[in-house]
Amino acid sequence: MSPDLPSCDEAAALVAAYCARLARPRLSSERVSLGLAAGRVLARSLRADSDQPPFSRSTRDGFACRAHEASMHGFLRVAGASRAGDAPAGPLPKGATWEIMTGAPVPAGADAVMMIEHAEQAGARVRLLPPRKIEAGENIVAQGAQAKAGDELLPAGTTIHSAQIALAAACGHTALEVFVRPRVAILTTGDELVPVESSPAAGQIRNSNAPMLAAMVEAAGGEPWVLPTAADDAEALDAALAQAADASLLIVTGGVSAGKFDLVEPALARAGARFHFTGVRIQPGKPLVFGELPRGRKQARQTRGASCALPLFGLPGNPVSSAVTFLLFVAPVLAALAGRLDSAPRFALARLAANAGKHGKPGLTRFLPASCTFGAACQLPKVELVPMQGSGDLAALARSNCFLVVPEEAHTLKAGAIVRILLP
Ligand code: AMP
Ligand code: MG
Repeated sequence: MSPDLPSCDEAAALVAAYCARLARPRLSSERVSLGLAAGRVLARSLRADSDQPPFSRSTRDGFACRAHEASMHGFLRVAGASRAGDAPAGPLPKGATWEIMTGAPVPAGADAVMMIEHAEQAGARVRLLPPRKIEAGENIVAQGAQAKAGDELLPAGTTIHSAQIALAAACGHTALEVFVRPRVAILTTGDELVPVESSPAAGQIRNSNAPMLAAMVEAAGGEPWVLPTAADDAEALDAALAQAADASLLIVTGGVSAGKFDLVEPALARAGARFHFTGVRIQPGKPLVFGELPRGRKQARQTRGASCALPLFGLPGNPVSSAVTFLLFVAPVLAALAGRLDSAPRFALARLAANAGKHGKPGLTRFLPASCTFGAACQLPKVELVPMQGSGDLAALARSNCFLVVPEEAHTLKAGAIVRILLP
């Protein structure tokens, strides 16, 4: 079965090697406010503006104490109280405790906090309930335990999600320096395609790949640039490819199979493309093309991507094929162009809920739209196939939330088996 084509893993390795060659430090950057930073990529490392936490903090409501005194179980005088927001107090007198709330600074001299649930109170005195003992450091996060002032908290290349926004806020950043998003040209091809707002005539269909890929590009950290659809015609394709020269990445869909009107690969060759591969042993998506188009030095400088040549993918036009090949191969390149440190596709393990019979040809790694349910913690998610009528079945794709991976050599997968899934 197509022994000359790379396997899925071999093609992924070629893509990973290409990503590793991209020169991230040359990416340009811009400042965005914290509220707009989600999904962007840090261009400069984030450093702690002060010790984290900035003072030794109690993690419990209770009584700050000296561990060795409290562990003797004698009643200790409550010498004062601190609530969250109070300035650090102390020093704690010998043989005393200090009432303290979660988040409050631990008074100087105290080395532990006994939890209120573990304390016996009698008037203004308190003791640790025997036989419980307490050790120095318990229920306290010491000043600077998480980071010292000036320490790198996050490296450049970190993708910013809610937790990174919270950390930046804790360090007093109202804005962050992020990489400029790579501009991704999306060129759909096919005589049968009409725009979404049109009513298709007999034999025509609406162009669903353009908005789907635009959304996938956004999710992977790029800025989509949807070009007008090109006809299945050599001249139209030549003109359309020339239009995309300023992009950081070019995605063409349709016209990469072996049919009479599949003219994309020859058009790319005419434009001087160098191909890394022109097919992969996967289903769907076998005719996938990955290569680079040459461009002049001036253009390379103007482009937001760091590469001199324009990386390009030709994806088969069927929506399921386009979606799978994007996740497997385009998203990693886009992530690398965006400056992200994490650029590999996301595979996970799941338990198969029902037998998955023979699907497609042997010798190809298959990616089948599937539905994965995340159950209780500590349990593998359950996955089952979504019934599908071929790789043009958009409804099946839209009912799925992952792809079940059927390895090249597997014929059937049995219910209960632990399987790999590809996540969006
Ligand atoms: P192709 O890869 O050009 O051979 O197309 C394979 C199948 O995908 C055909 O049924 C096309 O009509 C369909 N197709 C191609 N491009 C698109 C698109 N942009 N949106 C929806 N379907 C498409
Ligand atoms: Mg076509």
